[in-house]
Amino acid sequence: MDHTEKIKAEILAVGCSMLDKGLIAGTWGNISARIPGTQFIAVTPSGRGYRELTIDDVVVVDEMGTVIEGGLKPSSELPLHIEIYQARFDVQAIVHTHSVFASACAVAHKGIPPIIEDLVQLVGGGVDVAAYALPGTERLAKNVVAALSIKNAVLMANHGVVGCGQSLTEAMMACELVEKAAQILIYANQLGGAQVLSDEDVEVMHKFYVEYYRQRQQGRKI
Ligand code: 13P
Ligand code: ZN
Repeated sequence: MDHTEKIKAEILAVGCSMLDKGLIAGTWGNISARIPGTQFIAVTPSGRGYRELTIDDVVVVDEMGTVIEGGLKPSSELPLHIEIYQARFDVQAIVHTHSVFASACAVAHKGIPPIIEDLVQLVGGGVDVAAYALPGTERLAKNVVAALSIKNAVLMANHGVVGCGQSLTEAMMACELVEKAAQILIYANQLGGAQVLSDEDVEVMHKFYVEYYRQRQQGRKI
């Protein structure tokens, strides 16, 4: 299996995993990844059931979003994926979900402060809310990149979550951690409010993730 086929297969697996974990309903959400050794990006087709997709249904586009390979229409959020890859050379994969607790925060236009270890380690701090714009628009893409900044996740107002990472596994994990933190935040608010971590501790935890923990998750002894 070459790089392209491997990435396409991984994308299909993440699609099923988003459904299995209840992070999306139906055909919503989308997934993309850079194809190693190329300028190209593999992205899910628009409006198709993840469980029914085959490797050939995953669309390949160039860095401007022009379709290079595949017969289906690429995700309607392709502008958002392209804009993130153009702004963030470190990002290798992007996962977009519509999970419930994170969407509750997104609907309330309330970001998730840095409240819990795993979230701040991977995301690099709290999760901000990108200003509202219609799905699939260039404006939404610009708003997302502005709110994402150098972090690995962002909420889209009245919409959902975008997670990024150095791999599809990491981008998916970002979405899961955002959903978990949103749920914790809502529960903590019922208990009188969440206590926020200090900027210094957030920095220490993120640094630890970047320098050590991420490599351990990849099986390295570090
Ligand atoms: P696509 O099916 O076109 O990827 O769109 C789903 C979605 O979540 C739009 O924001
Ligand atoms: Zn969406």
